[in-house]
Amino acid sequence: ATTFNNKEVALFGLGGSGVATARALVEGGAAVTAFDDNPQSVARAGAEGIATGDLRMLDWSKLAGFVLSPGVPLTHPRPHWSAELAQAAGVEIIGDIELFARERRAHAPEAPLIAVTGTNGKSTTTALIAHILASAGRDTQMGGNIGRAVMTLDPPRSDRHYVVECSSYQIDLAPTLDPSVGLLLNLSPDHLDRHGTMRHYADIKERLVAQSGLAIVGVDDADCRRIADELETAGRDVQRISVQGPLDDGFFADGTTLMRAQAGKARALASLEGVGSLRGAHNAQNALAALAACLACGLSPDEVQAGLGSFPGLAHRMEQVARKGRVLFVNDSKATNADAAERALSSFERIYWIAGGLPKDGGIEALKPFFPRIAKAYLVGEAAPAFAATIGEATPFEISGTIAAAVDHAARDAAGDPAPEAVVLLSPACASFDQFRNFEVRGDAFREAVRSLAGTQMMGS
Ligand code: ADP
Repeated sequence: ATTFNNKEVALFGLGGSGVATARALVEGGAAVTAFDDNPQSVARAGAEGIATGDLRMLDWSKLAGFVLSPGVPLTHPRPHWSAELAQAAGVEIIGDIELFARERRAHAPEAPLIAVTGTNGKSTTTALIAHILASAGRDTQMGGNIGRAVMTLDPPRSDRHYVVECSSYQIDLAPTLDPSVGLLLNLSPDHLDRHGTMRHYADIKERLVAQSGLAIVGVDDADCRRIADELETAGRDVQRISVQGPLDDGFFADGTTLMRAQAGKARALASLEGVGSLRGAHNAQNALAALAACLACGLSPDEVQAGLGSFPGLAHRMEQVARKGRVLFVNDSKATNADAAERALSSFERIYWIAGGLPKDGGIEALKPFFPRIAKAYLVGEAAPAFAATIGEATPFEISGTIAAAVDHAARDAAGDPAPEAVVLLSPACASFDQFRNFEVRGDAFREAVRSLAGTQMMGS
């Protein structure tokens, strides 16, 4: 990264992306001082040749920039001490994605940069776009909030496509991201602990699409509708996406058919019929967004269709992990809030639902309309008593305690279900941290419990 050649830069946060960023800055000729609150991270980075030191000892008036890890609070609930130092000294605070954006602008401004954000569906859509582009033979790099840190991607070249997932924290630290294609999928309350109000959260997400060459915006919630209208009024190029009904202009789903309307005339461009990895209306939203983005990159509808059909799906997101007779086992461990769990519950008819973990505000009140689809609920973790109270009398439930016990009992009950397809679904509507290190480990525990049942046929890896 040559943006800070011959300049002094401070960096806080020495996780994987921080170390990669520090290294890239040094290679680009910057003098970097890196630090972390965790002494082990500092020691590890030091051992890898990165200059470390307590940032409180620096002369901040000499610094040209401050690079902050996206996991570290910039504003809410209060700024991290390092951000306070930077603010006090008037030093610009950026993240690794901003650094990447500046590199691209300096060395290959024509390189397509596709940036994806939203409350839910970011990773699926990012992976889907990258998969479709790569399947069509484009040189494709994927990173950011999914997969590799952006500073470890192959360097910008004009024919190289970058598909970057951005969390709101990363957008907050990327004032001039300016992607060629920006996607805002949806907005619902999440991470408000970190961003304060919904409006502030929406404003941050809006920034990603506000400076895009093309803005692709899902218009199925009020905040995103407002944002799409504002961008259009400001003269920006906007494509709207909806799974709720036809649009006069934009991309919408008619069942599993992906349609494009232009000046009131609609035509079918692709289909999700039989694409097991993209089941459910929420995935139609993701697929429409990917379709719009890939067409903008010059792909043909046939190329997009081919990529959609061969998309393997992402682990832990409504991932079909096994079958046993008429019972399907689905790992949706990534559904850490009620909104995400709603997508899974709305995608199946006869559900043996494993839920719970570390509860979030609002609980599962919003899921009540889907309770009739639940044959029985198996509750785990700290949220179990609260979830049991919400589920109440009408829907059968048990407090299973652990994922292993829940899988065992749910599989036994589902085996006796006469429906053509019964689904044992882990879609917790909770964080995992009460029992697991993260949602991946929780999903792996589900998979292993399913594997250990007699007679299950595992799918995929
Ligand atoms: P993110 O990266 O934004 O967290 P993922 O693609 O990892 O999103 O999906 C996380 C969960 O959110 C999935 O398991 C699914 O239940 C749900 N989900 C996926 N796409 C959408 C969408 N477009 N709208 C609402 N929920 C979605």
